[in-house]
Formats: sequence, C-alpha cells, structure tokens
Amino acid sequence: MRSDSRWTVAELREEVLAFRDARDWSQFHQPKDLALALSIEAAEVLELFRFKSDAEVRAQVEKRDVTDLGHELADVLYWVLLLSHETGIDLAQAMEEKLAFNARRYPVELSRGRKEKYTILHGLQETSEPTGESAPERDSDEPPHPMLKPTLMPGDPRRKAAPLLRRSGDCGEDARAGTESSGVPASPA
Ligand SMILES: [Mg+2]
Repeated sequence: MRSDSRWTVAELREEVLAFRDARDWSQFHQPKDLALALSIEAAEVLELFRFKSDAEVRAQVEKRDVTDLGHELADVLYWVLLLSHETGIDLAQAMEEKLAFNARRYPVELSRGRKEKYTILHGLQETSEPTGESAPERDSDEPPHPMLKPTLMPGDPRRKAAPLLRRSGDCGEDARAGTESSGVPASPA
C-alpha cells in the first residue's frame, strides 16, 4: 500500500505520466485542457458536499466514509501533477515560494485565530464590506503597498502584459482557503 509518507511528488508524477503515456493522451493535454480538467475535478469535490450539513459531513468523516472524497482529491492531484509537468513547474519549490509569500501577507502575530483578509489585518482596508478584490482608494502618487498586487479585471490592458503562467501565481487570493467538459480524456476513476 502506498503512503504519503513514502512517496515523493516526483514519484507520483512519474506514475501519472506513465498512466497517460500508455494511452497516448499527451496529444490532448495542452496546458489549457489540463487547467480545465483540474477545475472540473475540483468541482466534483464540491459536489460531494452539496446539500450536506456540517454535522452530516463530520459524521461521514468519523465513520471513515471518505473513499469518494479521496478519489476526487486524487483526480485533482492527477491534473495538478500533469499541469506542473507540462509547464515545467517544480511543485515543492512553488509551494515553498507561495507559503513564504502568504506568510508575509498573514504573519502569525496578526492572523492567528482570525479570518480577515490581509488587507484588513494590515490596516489597508477598514472593514470587510464591501469586500470586492480591489484595494482601498489611495492618492495616485502614493506607491502601492508591497503586500498588495493589483487585481486586473477582464478587459484591463495590463492583463496582456501579465505572463500566462507564473511560477508562483496568485493562485489563492488568500491562504485561508488553502491552494466544462472539454473532450479531455477522463482521469482514472
Ligand atoms: Mg472525478
């Protein structure tokens, strides 16, 4: 039986690549397709929780009735491993970078036991309402706070200048939450 404590990310990736290549599926796996598939599988994780109360979910976990959840998480990981492979991303390095980034956004002394977004924790926004994603208004000649990155809305010309794929992209606006059928061959089970 395999175990998280004995298998490396590289070994898992090799296993997934072998599964894919035996089926000659790489021809269907452009980064866009892999990203779509990843999102679809993430939605299938959500589906398992739909219409269930917190108590029902807790009871299910206590009974170790989590096989379906494990399989959906494996589906998500399958696509994460493929997408990172196709884009040359070292996941351990990316995770190290992202955790360091989020540690600056959410220092323990400010964020421990609190759920507010970093803009509030750092006093850059007075309340959580309205939420939105934009930073509070400031003087135009005031330099942006180093903890803030602009959120580029669709149509903003600056989006075109942004790299399509970033090594440590702003994949999670904050750390509290963590980290379409396209004809893409299905992941295992
Ligand atoms: Mg699935």
